[in-house]
Amino acid sequence: PRVVVGREVKTTCPYCGVGCGVVATVTADDQGDDRVTVRGDADHPANRGRLCSKGSALAETLVRDADGGGRLLHPEIDGRRVGWDDALAEVATRFADTIAQHGPDSVAFYVSGQLLTEDYYVANKLMKGFIGSANIDTNSRLCMASSVAGHKRGFGADAVPGSYADFETADLVVLVGSNLAWCHPVLNQRLLAAKAARGTRIIVVDPRRTASVDGADSHLALAAGTDSVLFNGLLVHLHAMGRTDAVFVGRHTNGEEDALAAARADAPDIAAVARRCKLSEAEVADFYAEVATTERLVTVYSQGVNQSSQGTDTVNSILNVHFLTGRIGQPGMGPFSVTGQPNAMGGREVGGLANQLAAHMGFTVEDIDRVRRFWNAPRVAAKPGLKAVDLFRAIERGSVKAVWIMATNPAVSMPDAGRVRRALAKCPTVVMSDCIADTDTGRLAHIRLPAAGWSEKDGTVTNSDRTISRQRAFRAAEGEARPDWWIIAQVARRMGFADGFGFDNAAAVFREHAALSGFENDGASGRAFDIGALAEVSDAEFDTLAPFPWPWRAGGQPQARLFTENHYFTDDGRGRFVPVTTKALPRTLPDGALLLNTGRLRDQWHTMTRTGLSARLSAHAPEPCLDLHPADAASRGIVDGGLVRVTSVAGEALARVRVTDAQREGTAFLPMHWTDAFTGSCVIGRLIDDEAVDPLSGQPDLKRMPATVLPY
Ligand code: SF4
Repeated sequence: PRVVVGREVKTTCPYCGVGCGVVATVTADDQGDDRVTVRGDADHPANRGRLCSKGSALAETLVRDADGGGRLLHPEIDGRRVGWDDALAEVATRFADTIAQHGPDSVAFYVSGQLLTEDYYVANKLMKGFIGSANIDTNSRLCMASSVAGHKRGFGADAVPGSYADFETADLVVLVGSNLAWCHPVLNQRLLAAKAARGTRIIVVDPRRTASVDGADSHLALAAGTDSVLFNGLLVHLHAMGRTDAVFVGRHTNGEEDALAAARADAPDIAAVARRCKLSEAEVADFYAEVATTERLVTVYSQGVNQSSQGTDTVNSILNVHFLTGRIGQPGMGPFSVTGQPNAMGGREVGGLANQLAAHMGFTVEDIDRVRRFWNAPRVAAKPGLKAVDLFRAIERGSVKAVWIMATNPAVSMPDAGRVRRALAKCPTVVMSDCIADTDTGRLAHIRLPAAGWSEKDGTVTNSDRTISRQRAFRAAEGEARPDWWIIAQVARRMGFADGFGFDNAAAVFREHAALSGFENDGASGRAFDIGALAEVSDAEFDTLAPFPWPWRAGGQPQARLFTENHYFTDDGRGRFVPVTTKALPRTLPDGALLLNTGRLRDQWHTMTRTGLSARLSAHAPEPCLDLHPADAASRGIVDGGLVRVTSVAGEALARVRVTDAQREGTAFLPMHWTDAFTGSCVIGRLIDDEAVDPLSGQPDLKRMPATVLPY
């Protein structure tokens, strides 16, 4: 064959929230075969040319049907291949009929941080503006919801204050519940490079001795769920040591006294903190002394904080420390939430969570009216909708009778996945749009719609430091796959909403999204997100749009750092301390049971539909292994490499054991990735119940599930 094209396209990695820039080089021949190679984009501010193992394997995980990707190539109704017209009409008819008979709240969308912002925007507009329900929630609920709720309480808006550059200008970086080395590898590379260049100190706060500890100066292996005790104690200690920035606190915050009183009751002194966190007093004292004496402090937190029934409070216990010492809004200082997914933040910007409206607006009378006027919408949702756990319970009860699941696999990933499966099995209408034909959720769907995947679709994503980047298509979509925004808009038109959904391309969706973000937005009352400067970008400008951080207000510049003027998005412009009291374990721990923790591995992504295609990536961990402390293994007669049965009130799983003192005694760890499609024996969603949920954020506790572990 004769090579006819060799071209480079800049896009963004579809995996973690670091959001690395990728240059894809496509070489095609005149017989239609294409070959793709990838390298890191040296111009992208997130990675400056670096890629991790997953990113550098992107060309091996393109999910091509011919390469065994198992693509969903054509629309299907009840397993029969149909044309797009029939499939779209069937979805529209079923949803319209259900709404006509049972009202707008009888339908729901469950979407994903894998969607592009433009997909999310159209889905949210249809559900919240035209159907008139807020029953659209996202798998970001399992990822980031506690940080969102904590930010809103502390800052008045869901906004990460700093940028990745702060990792490189800090003198001390504390990683709390974050295995940065595996879950945000390029950011960890940047941090280690800064450490080598200028001696940045790194402290890991995590019950497990993870790979991140390898590059750290110290590790506090505290008891699971006691992070807020540690940070409450730190607040008390810093205040007692005279480290309060009294001018900052007095001028720019509210609530210091109440937060200190709660912290004193929770963690009065170092001895009490050590006892509750199961650390030595010396470990706690050393940590507190280092924080007290190091001005440039960045506190990074991730799923170990978020995936907890007290995640929101833990976030605020961290924010309180930064408020007390005025370490926010300046280079190398600040609390820093790192998101799990490539577009967890983009979804939040358009209202992808059931308790947000759009563009960071809430369900106030003013915001509802503002959105109604902007969209010229017939019926804007007037109240928050069902968060993920409640949404699937509503399906189980029968009050939600039609659900559309986009780009996610809740039959595996939701807590109490067995219950989710039973709920979907009896739901009258389940629609799935996905790249993959055979997923655990897809097996329960009546209508399956083929969606375009990474390399095939166009739009934007927002990473953990608010940088918005383009994902660009560089290959034709497989089969009849279409972009999600197009599929949703086509259904909306068939439901009679032609006027609001006449988008021609992703650029048109982006322009409307940008215009809404700047619409009547003076930067006050919770509306941190504003990219109004881009409301009139041309298609050509959208095509070449370079990465930039939000906000980018009309007439202004992109803003990499927030709160430089110490103005917050609260009603009075002040940051808010929040009193935090640490709760007891959310579930009873029976005699002999262990606390089961769950999380990611370095080389796999979610339910492995992409990374599972790469032999190189799978070689890192070919099967799910349960990590167990040597004492727990010995007391149960379990040997390294042996098989065990893991049992909880929700279900059971089989796994091989790795005996390791990296695991705290009394705890165990299982990776989250395996599904029925890969093993059928170790789906952790079946082990975790859905009873322990953060009351503010709705985020399930996925880190502390009582489970018995016995030899198989
Ligand atoms: Fe992709 Fe995250 Fe790796 Fe960057 S660090 S290449 S975004 S998986």
